[in-house]
Amino acid sequence: MSAWVSDTIDAVYVVAVLVFILGLKAMSSPVTARRGIVYAGIAMLIAVVVTFFSPGLSNFALIALGVAIGGLGGWYWARVVKMTAMPQMVAMFNGMGGGAAAAIGAVELLSTLSNQITSSLSVAGAIIGSISIAGSMIAFLKLQGWMPSKAIVLPARQVVNTGVLVVGVACGVLLLWTSNFVWMAPFFVLLLLYGILLTLPIGGADMPVVIALFNALTGIAVALDGFALVNGPLGDAGYAMVIAGTLVGASGSLLTFLMAKAMNRSVSNVFFSAFGATEETGVTMKGSMKPIEASDVAAMMEYANQVIIAPGYGMAVAQAQGKVRELSDLLESKGVSVKFAIHPVAGRMPGHMNVLLAEAGISYDKLFDRDEINAEFANTDVVLVIGANDVVNPAAHRQGSPLFGMPILDVEQAKNVIVIKRGQGKGFAGVENDLFYRDNCHMLYGDAQAAVGKLVAALKAQ
Ligand code: NDP
Repeated sequence: MSAWVSDTIDAVYVVAVLVFILGLKAMSSPVTARRGIVYAGIAMLIAVVVTFFSPGLSNFALIALGVAIGGLGGWYWARVVKMTAMPQMVAMFNGMGGGAAAAIGAVELLSTLSNQITSSLSVAGAIIGSISIAGSMIAFLKLQGWMPSKAIVLPARQVVNTGVLVVGVACGVLLLWTSNFVWMAPFFVLLLLYGILLTLPIGGADMPVVIALFNALTGIAVALDGFALVNGPLGDAGYAMVIAGTLVGASGSLLTFLMAKAMNRSVSNVFFSAFGATEETGVTMKGSMKPIEASDVAAMMEYANQVIIAPGYGMAVAQAQGKVRELSDLLESKGVSVKFAIHPVAGRMPGHMNVLLAEAGISYDKLFDRDEINAEFANTDVVLVIGANDVVNPAAHRQGSPLFGMPILDVEQAKNVIVIKRGQGKGFAGVENDLFYRDNCHMLYGDAQAAVGKLVAALKAQ
């Protein structure tokens, strides 16, 4: 192939990078996020198509078949997935990226073991990719509810985990050193096992950090494999992987640190402390959960100066965001100031509440982060908690609680707190919430969409 064709391919990869970066930039605000997804899709399309022209590429029919299966499968699942099952899907797709990186690492090792640079990169990609796919699958099972979501702690965990990792990596080094494929199977088995062991003791409220970290690891594994390909016989074909992998690795790492900060934890603490493994004992709830009627809540809100709405996972399950918008508009038309308090890990994926509220057309300037709004609760007449539990649980202030240390929305400081939920269900972390038993708190029981609908009807009738 002429140098001219090769240079053109490289130039097209640069275009793909620029479009990827534009996409990422657009995704930084809910207002432009949809456009960002489209840009990223176009960039990926450009990168995939131009890869077909890479020198040395063969087996086009097989590659096209793979693209068709992956593309159609992804398109179908993304269309039918419920918004509330999105985190599992992200964990699953993430894991597939890690698995693909590990598989490419294996293939590269089989074909280029004599080249030390290429095979070292492949081993590194395979290590990270294997840990990522195995860990992501455990995250998927926990989020799907097919495995207990709380931390599962095995005996002598630290020693066993470290041992498995060290021996696994040693097998990779021996593979490189001796060029003997006998080390390949134990290498992959041990690293997959390490991914499982690493993720089992992480539970409850720490899952957002885990998902973000495996996302970042998958990106890094893909980038390393891309470098291996660029150094190997296929040359140019690796560029797309270097580009996409680096972007995912960098943005995933940032997200990991943001999520850890939101939980007031270090990433190492999340992964190695098995926080949340123990049930809290000896804590009994004082008082009782007091039900309230929608008409009473409507009257309370109508006479309030300010209402703050704190949404959570239950709003997403009930798809109540449209009704919440109606409620907010109605209150504002009656002269009540309405604000939304958004906790960074509310719901089941980063930005979950922002996406839902933006979808319902609620203006972005009404949404406030925890740090921006926490000081306002004490001067607020009514806080309406809609399907949130862990992110408003004062147990986070109690030493020994699995939630201890997590920054929460301090809604309990408001004059009146109304909680919409269906019954006695606990939050994702499985911790009792004494907010519900406090004197200033009342429960409006029911599905969030129906309950907010009742509030709207009652306000209209007043
Ligand atoms: P929680 O999961 O703590 O609580 C949700 C509450 O909603 C439940 O107590 C449930 O009570 C109620 N609920 C469920 N369905 C409905 C419905 N149809 N109508 C009304 N209420 C309903 O949610 P939060 O948003 O407060 O906290 C998120 C949790 O998820 C945190 O622990 C976070 O760490 C974790 N997580 C977050 C991720 C992220 O990226 N944001 C990812 C993974 C985990 P009841 O059954 O009584 O109705």
